Amino acid sequence: MTMNKQELFKEGLKRCLAFCDAHDIPRPHHVFDNRADANRHRRDFLRPKWFGAQMYENEEFIIGVDVKRCRVATRVPGWSWTYPGYKVDLTPMGVLCHEFGHHVDCALGGNGKYVSRFKAWKDVVDNEEEISGYEPNALESFAETFRLFITNPDLLRAGRPERWEYFTEKLGFTPLHTTHWKKVLKHAHPRILSAAERWIVDP
Ligand SMILES: [Zn+2]
Repeated sequence: MTMNKQELFKEGLKRCLAFCDAHDIPRPHHVFDNRADANRHRRDFLRPKWFGAQMYENEEFIIGVDVKRCRVATRVPGWSWTYPGYKVDLTPMGVLCHEFGHHVDCALGGNGKYVSRFKAWKDVVDNEEEISGYEPNALESFAETFRLFITNPDLLRAGRPERWEYFTEKLGFTPLHTTHWKKVLKHAHPRILSAAERWIVDP
């Protein structure tokens, strides 16, 4: 099972749209898979060094992912540790799910507000360790949590139970499946699996 970047993007899109539909969350008006199209639609939307972007403007939800810039899934971990369903995922699937996290955050908030600004979410974030290295604020923590909720919900449940509880109980989200996290990562290199195990027991 080796998906190329376009396939990873499509798989992520399929799952995120299914999530939106199941939760009565509006789908984004536009989802771009390359920088040229995204920036033709909205100037300076997807900057050269960015993997993805999300925006709400003029009552329009847009998402852009620079699929070309995204990584492929790591076969043998070394300098790169990125894999769909792992805590770090810079593949097009992971980046798209992260951007959909901002979309859902924004759509739930209404009028361009983000629910991750609520104190209840900030408390959860302060109480628990990060998921990945990329969480400079509560907004990004929400997007990272959403990414894992879509790509490997059971890993989120096992590793970051407070975030899991916030998503499932406070926000009422239902995961798309309940597959054991190890099964989701069954094609990943054994070192990625053991790293995920350590991430759970020693956050
Ligand atoms: Zn983000």
